[in-house]
Amino acid sequence: MTHTEPHPWQWDEAVWRGHVQAIRAGRPLRPAHWPGGARVAVALSFDSDHETIPLRDGETRPGALAQGEYGSRVGAPRILRTLERHRAPATFFMPAVSALLHPDEVRAYAAAGHEVALHGWIHERNMLLDESVERELAHRAAETLQQLSGRRPVGLRTPSWDFSDHTLTISRELGLLYDSSLMADDDPYELVQQGTPTGMVEIPVEWIRDDAPYFMMDRYGALRPYTPPRGVLSIWRDEFDQALAEGGVFQLTLHPHIIGHRSRMAVLDELLRHITAHDVWFATHEHLARYVLDHAAPAQEGTT
Ligand SMILES: [Zn+2]
Repeated sequence: MTHTEPHPWQWDEAVWRGHVQAIRAGRPLRPAHWPGGARVAVALSFDSDHETIPLRDGETRPGALAQGEYGSRVGAPRILRTLERHRAPATFFMPAVSALLHPDEVRAYAAAGHEVALHGWIHERNMLLDESVERELAHRAAETLQQLSGRRPVGLRTPSWDFSDHTLTISRELGLLYDSSLMADDDPYELVQQGTPTGMVEIPVEWIRDDAPYFMMDRYGALRPYTPPRGVLSIWRDEFDQALAEGGVFQLTLHPHIIGHRSRMAVLDELLRHITAHDVWFATHEHLARYVLDHAAPAQEGTT
């Protein structure tokens, strides 16, 4: 914002109201029942960013890229083995550049019955892009994932949950079924754009249910914010237990280059042992979105 524009405290009501109403949560989509009499739906997701996190910042040195390489060489295979052991389907959100660097990994996800979905071109920050650039990258990413996975992706998680003023419009042009980047609920809801229901499902995320904020650190910063893996386990277990009590959705966002380490995979394995001791429905984000659209209460007059 330049200083010639009004400050936020000088905005007319129409201005601040307009910003807030651009995209809102509409109809709640938590159904009365889950498939097979399950008491809770579990939607696991893995953002297979690998080398694209340093690359999108122009960080090309081998040290940072090796951390991403670990995600693909060690983290992803470990995750696939763990999911197979627990018979848990999941969704893998993958930047197109990451998919092009690791085509066999994309095929392994698809072959195991997991969903492969959009996560940008090179993990770009959408809010820094012009609309035309964001659109072109989104289309190119969708075509790339379709070629590598054999299926047209139906869902998007914006890289870094960086959701621009144009992201939803572009997602609707692509005909996407769902987005998974916003945070207006614990359970799925319908996205409303400028007061109009879109028919698109939001499967909400939260930093609480993401491995990155607990485990990442700034190498050259003085602070070392770090939560012990067993501490993270207790947070996620409480999130799951409450979703179970409410009959809602437990959604988790993990990264192969972060969760894929030994001490952290032990925690994921223990979490999955806790989850599978209950009547749960494991669903990919796609299957969850389709189910809630088909089974949620219809929109009522006067509510959007
Ligand atoms: Zn990511």
